[in-house]
Order: sequence, then C-alpha cells, then structure tokens
Amino acid sequence: MITINNLHKYFNRHKSNELHVINNVSLSLPDKGLVSLLGPSGSGKTTMLNLIGSLDKQSKGDIYICDEKVKKHSSRKRDKLRTLKIGYIFQDYKLIDDESVYDNVALSLKLIGVKNKNVIKNKVEYVLDKLDLSRYKYRPCSMLSGGERQRVGIARAIIKDPDIILADEPTGNLDSKNTIEVMNIISNIAKEKLVVLVTHEQNLAKFYANRIIEFNDGVIKKDYLNDHPDDLDYQIENKFYLKDFKYKETIKNGSNINIYSNDNTKIKLDIVVKNGNYYIKAYDNYLTEIIDDDSKIEFIDEHYKKINKEDINSSEFNLSNIKNKKYSSIFNIFSVFKRGFQKVANYSFFKKILLFGFFISSGFILYATSSYFASIKILDEEFINNSKNYFLVTSGNNKVKKYNKIKNINEDYIYIPGSADISFNFINEDLYQFYNNEVKFTSSIAPIEDINKKDLLYGRLPENNNEIVVDILAIKRNVDSNSSYKNEGIIKPKDFLNYELNIPLFDNFKIVGISNKIDNSIYVNKEYILPLLVIYNYSKDSFISYDYIDEENPLFINYDLFKSDIKIVKGRKPNNDYEIIVNYKDRYDYPLKKNISYKINKKKVKVVGYYETDKNISIFITNNNTYIYNYLKNTNNLLVYANIHNKNKVIEEFHNNNLKIDNTYEIDKKDYKESKKEGINASKVISIVIISISLVECYLISRSSFLSKIKEVGTYRAIGVKKSDIYKMFIGEAFAITSIASFSGVILSSYVLNKLSHIDMFKYSFVININVVLFSIIIIYIFNLVTSLIPVYMLIRKEPARILSRNDID
Ligand code: ADP
Ligand code: MG
Repeated sequence: MITINNLHKYFNRHKSNELHVINNVSLSLPDKGLVSLLGPSGSGKTTMLNLIGSLDKQSKGDIYICDEKVKKHSSRKRDKLRTLKIGYIFQDYKLIDDESVYDNVALSLKLIGVKNKNVIKNKVEYVLDKLDLSRYKYRPCSMLSGGERQRVGIARAIIKDPDIILADEPTGNLDSKNTIEVMNIISNIAKEKLVVLVTHEQNLAKFYANRIIEFNDGVIKKDYLNDHPDDLDYQIENKFYLKDFKYKETIKNGSNINIYSNDNTKIKLDIVVKNGNYYIKAYDNYLTEIIDDDSKIEFIDEHYKKINKEDINSSEFNLSNIKNKKYSSIFNIFSVFKRGFQKVANYSFFKKILLFGFFISSGFILYATSSYFASIKILDEEFINNSKNYFLVTSGNNKVKKYNKIKNINEDYIYIPGSADISFNFINEDLYQFYNNEVKFTSSIAPIEDINKKDLLYGRLPENNNEIVVDILAIKRNVDSNSSYKNEGIIKPKDFLNYELNIPLFDNFKIVGISNKIDNSIYVNKEYILPLLVIYNYSKDSFISYDYIDEENPLFINYDLFKSDIKIVKGRKPNNDYEIIVNYKDRYDYPLKKNISYKINKKKVKVVGYYETDKNISIFITNNNTYIYNYLKNTNNLLVYANIHNKNKVIEEFHNNNLKIDNTYEIDKKDYKESKKEGINASKVISIVIISISLVECYLISRSSFLSKIKEVGTYRAIGVKKSDIYKMFIGEAFAITSIASFSGVILSSYVLNKLSHIDMFKYSFVININVVLFSIIIIYIFNLVTSLIPVYMLIRKEPARILSRNDID
C-alpha cells in the first residue's frame, strides 16, 4: 500500500540552522492493520506522517501510495491524492469549529465528489451513529468535549472510505477514558484498512498495534511485528478504585463516614448539614473537591483490573464502497456568495465593528473622488467674463480693409470693433443713487435672435426693440460686484424682471426675460448692438452732451437707427461712404456740399443734407459703413459673434481667408485652468492620500481578520480543500463585506455630499454624479477583493503542514 525509498527531509535547508529530520528512511507498509510509529517527542514522527500524507513535500527520496508515485512538484496532485486516498486524524482534531458536526463530516464527502444530499445524509448519519455522535449532529464542534471532537475527527476521516488512515497522536489531548474509547475505534478500523498510528505511548502501541516501527532522530531503530499482550495496564486517573486503597476507616455514629487513603492520614473536617446541603470545611490545606454526578472523578467500589482483549467491543464499520471518487470543488458561484453573506451575518460584535471601518473608509474614498472630480471640473460661470459666443480677430494695420474683408465672408455674422462689453444705467426711480445713474449694469451684449423660449428661466421673449433678456450669469456678476443691488434687495434673478436699463439717446430697455445660458450677456435686437456700443463708448469716458458738436471728437451714428426720428429738410440722405447729414440748426457751421475739417480713414467727410428732429441732438448721421469706420479708429481688434453651434464653421471660414482668430472662450478657459492647476494638483494629491489611507485601512482590517482564519485555512487545506475553493471563500466574504459595508458607505456619503453641494459654500467642492459614484464603487470592490486575497495567496502557497504549524495564532 505504501512504499518509501530513501526518504529525506530537511528543515531550513542550506541555512545555518539546518535540521535533518528524516534521514534516509525506507519502508513498506501493507494493505491493512495497525502500524504504530513509536518514538520520543521530537524524533520526526509527525514529519514522517506529513510526508506520507502529502501535507508536506520531501527533500529527497520517493513515496508511493497505492503504487502511485507522489509527485513532489505538483501541489494539486498531492491535494488530490490526500483527499481521495487518505483520511487524516489530528492530535488537535482540526475541525471547523463554528460549523456543526454534521457539516464537518459532510464536507469530507463533498470533497470526493458526493453531491447527492440524500446519499450524504445517509452516510453521515450512519457514521455518526457508529461513533455515538448522533445526538450532537447539529451542534457546533466548538461545543463538544475533547473525546467527542476526536470522534468527529475520526468520522470525517473514515466517511470517505479512504485506503489509508493516518493518525498523529490522536489521543494526545484526551484523558485516559477517552483514549481507550478512541483507540478501540481505531483498532476496529484497522481490521479493514491500513492505519498508521503515531504515538509516543509505548503501552498503547504494544496493546493495539500489529506492527511497531520504533523511530528516533529521523531513523528507524526497530521494525517488528507486535505480539499483543493480553491486557493493557492503562490506569484511568479519573476512576478511584476504592478497594485498592490501603487504609479504610469507618466512622459510625448514626452517620456513616468512610475514609480511604494509602497512608492512613488522619483528617480533620467540619461537616455542617443545613437545609439539605452539606457544608464541608477541611483543615491542613488539603484540596477539597465535592464529587457529584457531574464530576469527572468517579468512585468505583472495586479493585482496578487491566483492560482485557475481550473488553474491547468489536464493532464493524460497514462503509459501502464509494465508487468514482472525484476530487471536487465544494462551491459553485451561488454557494460562494451565499456563504460569504452568511459568514458576515454571523460575525461577532467585534468583527461587526470592523465592518464599520469599511463603511467609513468607503465614505472617505467617495469624498476624495468627488472633490477631485470637482477640482478638475470647470464651470463656465467660474471664468466667463464676456459672452462666450464672441471670438477675436486680431486686425493690425488697415483696419477698414480688414473689416470689409470680414464682412464679405458672411453678412449674417455680427462684427464688432473692439469689445462687446457695455454698461447700462440701472433705473430705479425710487432711489436717489439709482436715479442719478450711479448704479451700472455691466455685461456683454449679444443678439436676442440667439435666445429661444427654452433658454428662459423667467419671463418671456421680447415683443419689441426696447424689450430685452438678461442672463442669470450677468445678474450674478453684477450682484456680486455692486453692493447697491444687495442693499436694495434686488438679488435673485427673478427680482430683475421689469426693471429698466438705459443708454443715452436710446429709450429705456425693459428686462422682460431672464435666460439660463450661463453667459455673461444682455440680449438685444441685433441691429442695436453696434449703435449701442458706439454711443456707450463715446459717452463713457467724459461728461458728454449731445446737443452740440464736439469738433475734435464728433459722434457719428448711422442713419438706419434714427431714420424714424428725423426728417430730411434739405439735401439728401447719406447714401455713400464719407457723407453726413447735420442738424438743421447747425447749418451755418457746416455748409451744404462742403467738407468738414474732421477726417475718417484719412478721407474727407462731406455734408450732403440737413435733418430736423424732436430730439435734442446735434450729431453727424452717416451710412452704416462710415460710422463704423470712425469707430474702428480707436480699436485694434474685431470681435465676431457666432453662437456656439456654428462657431467651428466660422473659425474655418476665417482660417480659409487667412485671418487670424482667437477663440476667447477657449483661451479664457485655458487660462483659468492654468490658474487652477496648482489647486487641482493639490487636490489630486490630497485625494490620492485619502484614498490610499482608506485602502490601507481596508487592507489592515482584512489582514487582521485574516489572522484569525489562518487556522481554519490550514484545516481546510489539510483535509484537501482546493486552493481555488479557499480563494472563493475569501472572495465571497470580501464581496459580502463590500456589498454590505462599503456599498452602503458610498451611498450614504454620496447622499450627504450631494446635500452639501447644494449649499453655496460647498457648491464647487463636490461633484456627485453617477460616474463619481460608480468609479468609487468599482475601486472599492476591486481593492477589497485584491487586498483580501493577498494574505490568502501568501498563506496557501505554503505546504499544508507549514500552515498548520504556524503557532502565532492560537
Ligand atoms: P515528533 O512528531 O516526533 O515530536 P516532529 O516531526 O514534529 O517530531 O519534529 C521533528 C523535529 O523537526 C523537531 O526537532 C522539530 O523541532 C523540527 N521541526 C518540525 N517542524 C519544523 C519546521 N517547520 N521548521 C523547523 N523545524 C521543524
Ligand atoms: Mg508530533
């Protein structure tokens, strides 16, 4: 059954503390019978048994089990061999303590591929009955006595009908009564199977074994067939045989007290009987123990008698052969996760506190992710100063030529010399400072044609040229920069509805709608944009009156804007470039058909007519080109308006015409990003630090809870559970922990952060959206799974014997 040739085992090979524990052992063992490996402690018996049982691998030499050579280098092959052919019985039982007797024994069957529930039930019940364990069937093993546990260990070993039973000091932790019981069972098993029994108790070996191999310092000293003695002198220390005591003294005086001793000790006792209880006081410092039904010690009114062959009741184990044994996984996908959740549900109070650690750290991970995403997210409202729909054409010399070139590209675009920024006077007739035009409303102006109904947050679209729409970002910028609004309680976008804005020479503009384009703009009729800018820029720097003409710096404005307000009384309207008409009251200063002294674009400007008007204005009125030519004088740049949607098309057209353009929005965005870069980097570092700390915390928690499982893992490996099954157990548990603790941590903290981000103070601090939450959850799951598997990987690389001998965990 077993053949061993020239076997060697070293520990700490090639190190200074090298130990040669098994030294060139060869032997051959039969198909059945009890072979005892007898030797003093430290002689290498356990090591030998571990090698035979594939719990460890030899340094040199060959082992054949059932004519099959044990493959030294394939741990899977050795697992398979151990599981299918060998039943192991350990000194310290190695049961799964928190599982029931039934489950411990059934596991053994599952490992060899018995999956049918009824078959398992019949076999387990049969074996438990044979070993007198039936009444403990559903009890967790942790609640059994030593003798009971060892019987479960035996049940687990024999139920799979192995060819060989290996027992390493199976009675080493038992009292003598249980020792005899367990040895009786083992000797019965040995009638059918090969049992290799390791022991240092010579009398046990002599009484039970068929063959004794005496072992010392890793070598076989003697190997002989054992002719059994007829009886076993095995004093059972918890039985007091009263007839064997030398002295007996009886005190009779109504009561009847017997005193047994070997040295005729005179004792001094006070005994009080009260209310049916005996109270005994001993003098002389003797240890006093009361013997009742629950005591371990038993008084027997007999002489001690050696155990006789006939006393061993010979019971048969009739384990019907299990055919087609197959080394099997004990889990499927479903049972992996079910087991994981069950484990977590059964956690002790202390371990549930560990769950709280996962809960907290996942909250921090979400926090860090969320604030990092917030730092890299740039909102228009953070940096936009001008309307985002303008871009800049750098014009250089000969501005008029360039302007005309641009105009030829597409008449529909709006071209603005200089800047599209404007300040209106905010009208609030109730208040002095507003009344005196001291409160300004400043923003870019853009065409109302770009606003749809769906862009409106409040109010309506304009119905005439003096109604306008203002964007919420323009309102926010003005409220933030001018305390007058706050002082008057005009703060919220809605408050601005129906107020009026003013620019000289124009009727008041009424705010009828508030848009939500997050653009710093006032939206007015497209035709008004340039005249508004011309007049605003003309008036902004100094106190200007429009009822006389400033010869140095006259105001030119276009005929189209004023045509309904004026009447031509002499001459004709200004059809051509560089022609003007003048207020009739100024006719003496500016004679008809004469040039004026002021030049535009180095060209002479000619008076071609006079107008009269109800308005009190003295300005030069020209065609559309001329007033713009004049306006171009003071500017280097041209702005082109193209809404977001056709911006790329405009850029391409300009590019094809060799015009250099700057996309102001993108440039501002880039500049702003650049200015935030340090902040982003800082936030990146902080986020990475927080995430790392949280993950390390999770790792430490996993690891600390892993320490308590090393013993269990060792047991699983020793009885043959596959490595992949061990991984599955931990995956199931990590998944359950993550789903219960981390997942809820993420959900709760995203709820809290989301609430916080609605508070103005934290508005830009967190981003909570599905991406952030998913991202956090995914890293947490991945990391929890990985970190919980690292210690498992480190552990189960080792031979099962190494795992079992780790004693830093008990
Ligand atoms: P026995 O079972 O006969 O008491 P063991 O086989 O347990 O003896 O041990 C034999 C010798 O090998 C002892 O000196 C023991 O200290 C040593 N030994 C056992 N396991 C290891 C190990 N994992 N590393 C180093 N030395 C070991
Ligand atoms: Mg040992």
